This record gives sequence, structure tokens and C-alpha cells, in this order.
Amino acid sequence: MTRGPAARLEGLGTTIFAEMSRRAVETGSVNLGQGFPEVDGPERIRELAVEAIRSGRNQYPPGGGVPELRRAVADHQRRLYGLEVDPVAGVTVTTGATEAVASTLLGLVDPGDEVVVLEPYYDSYVAMLQMAGAVRRPVTLRAPDFRLPIDELWAAVTDRTTTILLNSPHNPTGTVLTRDELQVVAELAVEHDLLVISDEVYEHLTFDVPHVPIATLPGMAERTVTISSGGKSFSLTGWKVGWASGPAELVAAVTGVKQFLTYQGGAPFQPAIATALDEAESITGPLREELRARRDQLCDGLAAIGLDVFRPDGTYFATTDVRPLGFDDGLDFCLALPERCGVVAIPHQVFHDDLEAGRPLVRWAFCKTEAVLAQALERLATLA
Ligand code: PMP
Ligand code: GLN
Repeated sequence: MTRGPAARLEGLGTTIFAEMSRRAVETGSVNLGQGFPEVDGPERIRELAVEAIRSGRNQYPPGGGVPELRRAVADHQRRLYGLEVDPVAGVTVTTGATEAVASTLLGLVDPGDEVVVLEPYYDSYVAMLQMAGAVRRPVTLRAPDFRLPIDELWAAVTDRTTTILLNSPHNPTGTVLTRDELQVVAELAVEHDLLVISDEVYEHLTFDVPHVPIATLPGMAERTVTISSGGKSFSLTGWKVGWASGPAELVAAVTGVKQFLTYQGGAPFQPAIATALDEAESITGPLREELRARRDQLCDGLAAIGLDVFRPDGTYFATTDVRPLGFDDGLDFCLALPERCGVVAIPHQVFHDDLEAGRPLVRWAFCKTEAVLAQALERLATLA
């Protein structure tokens, strides 16, 4: 018999990412499912972690993370966005953005609170909102353009709403919210006195459009917890170094939970990520250029096969509608794909409450080499 929180989680099973990566290995498929880069981040940064291990940085870091990483996060926020964050009280280091999301929701959302959240959701949001006992109020980004539906956003807020959980650049659609869209979210948050939790893990991965942190808008810094991580920006997803930053009293609540989830981890990785953040512009510039080329390669190739393609402004995911190839259902399509032609992709519908909105949509990761994408496209051409 399942009891307690586990009972509430029953039915979620394994994550779609873990399951599809397992199938990719099992079938020898090209894995365009789970979003992890094929090429590791800069060697210099990896060497710094090796040196940190050799020089004895192997015991628990201090409660909020190593001082140089907290300083680097604060510097990064000031240098790139003009945001003033206290490097001690305003930053807490977490085990990836995943733990920052978990700690922020558990620390700042009470059972019964309504949380407005963009749908399709990143998968951990649903699980963590359930663990926090919160009620999710989805606002759906819909094909073909996946823009923020302003009227639906306003309509989603009730007198029980306490929080907006935002994600821009958005996984899985690749939408990057514009300053005007964020301004509407900010007005709503100020008018209803809402907390905003802003997941910005793809902040450096935008193509020709700026990333605007919502904390930079008037009235928002004092009510926003901003979350990011080194995984996507520096192609080091397995290091799991993330952080939350914002006002001291909000960050204290995040740290309060985080210390009982893992306490602290990744001691030798934290100083290396601090250096990567100090050099963020020179590391992410070339990465962005490479990803833009891979985005175009994949999108052009998928379109040539006959799929309807939505070219993203950010992240490393492109979305297609699979109906032009005669499939109605993206989940069925993705389950058949490894056996049928040796490629793995992710169905949008698993990130939806509104199943119909996501049913025919499939997400493809393009953080792969040119040769691997070419191989995937060659295999997919057999579908047409
Ligand atoms: N938020 C979003 C939107 C993500 O896509 C991811 C991971 N891909 C995370 C959070 C988790 O990041 P991390 O790997 O640093 O835990
Ligand atoms: N964020 C990655 C993705 O969207 C997956 C991370 C995970 O497996 N939890 O593909």
C-alpha cells in the first residue's frame, strides 16, 4: 500500500526523459529526446573542476554554496541585467535548477495556494506543485505561435492565487517572452501582490531576441525568485550546479528547504562554474552561434520531410506537428519512432493538462553535432 506523498505521486511513474533515453540506448536510436548537449562544455572549465578535486575541495561547501559562486552569480546578474543581488543573502546554490524549483515551491507556496503556470510545463513543476499541495492554474501556450495569451493569463488569477511560476526561454516550446509580455505578467503580479518564480535556465540560449529577466521590470525585483543553472549555459548538465537569487527573505526560505533536501553538493564543481559565469559572454557566444546553425539544420530538415515546424527563438528544442505525416497523436508517434526508424523525440502532451492542445506536437533536441542531426534526418526521411 502506498502512503503519504508517494500516494499523491502514484501514476507519474518514471519521467518521460528517463524513459525515452532508456529506449534510445535499448534500440540504438539517435536521441533527440532528453535535452543534453552531445559536446561537453569548455575543457578549461572542466580542468578547473579536476584541479578543485586535486586541491582538496571535496568536503561539504558552506550552507548557501561556495562564496566565489555566490559572488559570481551576483556579478553576472549585475553585469548582464543591471540587477542588484546580495552575494551572500541573495543567492543560494542548489543541486541543479531542479532543486531550486523544488525548494522554492516547497519553501514559499502553502498547501491550497493557487499557482499560475505556463503550460506545456517543464515536468518537475507538476510533481513539485503536487508535493507542495498547491493547485495549478495552467495558462496554455498554443500552436502555431506559442505566445502568451494575455486574457487567459488575467482570467487564471483568483483570490487564492499567490504565485506565478514562469519559464522563459520556455521548455518545450522555445518561446522567449518579450518585454511587453513580461510587462503584463509584472502588472498582474503587482496588482495581486503575487510572488513570481522565474525559471531562466536557458537565459543564454536565445537566437536574435533578447532574454529579459522579469526581475528587471518595475516592482518585480522585490517579489521575484530567479532560478538558473550552469547545465544549459555551459553544456555541463550532469554537474547539476544551479542557484536561486532574489530578495534575502525569499532566498532564506529557499535555503531553508534546500538544506534538508541535499544540504549542499558538487563541491569541486561550484568554483569551476563560478569561473564559467565570470566568462559567460565568451563561452555562450560561440555556443549560441553553433546552436543557431543546428536549429536551422534540424528545422529545415524536418520541414523537408513534411512536418509542420515551429522554429524556436530560444532553448535547444524545436517543435513539430506530426499530422502532415498522417499521425494524430504525438505520444503514439514517439513510442513507435525508435523501432520504426531509430530516432527518439519527446511528445508535448505529457507536459499538458489540456491534452488536446499538445496531442499532435513533438519536441526535438538540436543540441547535437551536425553529423548526428544529419543521421537522424536521414532516418526520419523514411517516414515520408
Ligand atoms: N527548468 C527547465 C525549464 C529545464 O529545461 C531544466 C532542465 N533541462 C531544468 C529546469 C533543470 O535544470 P538542472 O538540470 O540544472 O536541474
Ligand atoms: N531538461 C531536460 C529536458 O527538458 C531534461 C532533464 C531531465 O531529464 N530531468 O529535456
